Amino acid sequence: MIGRAGKPATRRPAIQLKVKTILNQIQPHAGFVFHDMRLCGRRGRPERIEITVRAHAGMARRCSQCQRAVPGYDRLEEREWRHIPLWGLETWFRYAPHRVACPEHGVVVEYIPWNEGKRRLTTAMMGFLARWARRLSWRETAEAFQVSWEAVYRSVEWLVHWGLAHRELRGVESIGVDEIHWGHGLRANNFLTVIYQIDAHCRRLLWVGRRRTQATLRRGLKALGPEVVKGLRFICSDMWQPYLQVMAVQAGQALHVLDRFHITMHLNQAVDQVRRAESSRLQAAGKATAQQLKHTRWPLLRRGNRVRGRARQKLNALLASKLQTARAWELKETFSHFWKYRSVTWAGAFLDYWSYRAMRSRLEPMKKVARMLRTHEPLLLNWFRAKGEISSGAVEGLNNKIRVVTRRSYGFRTYQAMEIALYHTLGRLPEPESTHRYC
Ligand SMILES: [Zn+2]
Repeated sequence: MIGRAGKPATRRPAIQLKVKTILNQIQPHAGFVFHDMRLCGRRGRPERIEITVRAHAGMARRCSQCQRAVPGYDRLEEREWRHIPLWGLETWFRYAPHRVACPEHGVVVEYIPWNEGKRRLTTAMMGFLARWARRLSWRETAEAFQVSWEAVYRSVEWLVHWGLAHRELRGVESIGVDEIHWGHGLRANNFLTVIYQIDAHCRRLLWVGRRRTQATLRRGLKALGPEVVKGLRFICSDMWQPYLQVMAVQAGQALHVLDRFHITMHLNQAVDQVRRAESSRLQAAGKATAQQLKHTRWPLLRRGNRVRGRARQKLNALLASKLQTARAWELKETFSHFWKYRSVTWAGAFLDYWSYRAMRSRLEPMKKVARMLRTHEPLLLNWFRAKGEISSGAVEGLNNKIRVVTRRSYGFRTYQAMEIALYHTLGRLPEPESTHRYC
């Protein structure tokens, strides 16, 4: 081996690169050979790459149903599959499939490793598009790789179905059940029921379904299977009656915990109701104090010690007033002490004290929350029994991620597409193993 200046080369020679060699290195298909590759174009401009695949002459064909080696039968016409683009050019596999005569399955199409049913994309291409569709919107993915939106959707769907069929549900001990609003309007179909796994070692979306009725949740639990439901130790949810009832019947062994984040939400809503009612009453009466309530919505809803700056001054002035809103806010803030208790008994005593004050506040929204908390006192106190076992922020965190998916313009045309997108981004689903990871 002679180097440039006639001296022996010290470096190993690089592999002489043929595209066929690359394909054989990164994506060999046993029983098939890459026969030839063509760069097709018009007027000297390359447009697409065609890779013709042939059956390996020395190897038996396999049955697509059982993958056993079986005798050939006949050949079908050549088909095309869209593959991952090379150098930004559309790339196609061309192959004329054989039919085989399987003793068990009769005359069927042979097993083709890059093929999935009647799809026009190779499995590698579907995996490629689906992975990109997690980083980009589906529309952007379609544009970037010059395929249709539908092709991206079908690819994600394929990966999700594969993942759902192969996922492991053993070891699920804590779940969160919640409702999510979706789309416009408040019709029954605008709500989704979601079931999350909220164990410390794994947080993911387990199931999503339309509506928020008992039937919805029963469907979800059925999908998870009786083994999972019977193995549950903790369930975290809001005080939504249909969920409470179904859970009590189907997973009575689990400790049902009312989620802190939901209770805070109810308290915030009550404060806001008081503020709105008071604000319109004062304005109607032409009182100057109406000014004090302007632009106070967000400072009132935040946790008290997190309000700073000018908002803080405004809040302080409001609190010094004799307004109903100030009293409602004070009740809400006092309730945050509840979560700091360690003993169930003391937490229970605090709850009694707080409800007593709320009931005497003459603020109807606050009284309503107090009544609700009292009704669910045992479930509320379960929070202390489960302390340290479940994270109170898990459901909230997953809800926020769901909103990112449902709100971002992914161009979902149907509910089904959105459901697929949710499993795809939050399901932590397994993926089929491939010989090469293209992205
Ligand atoms: Zn077979």
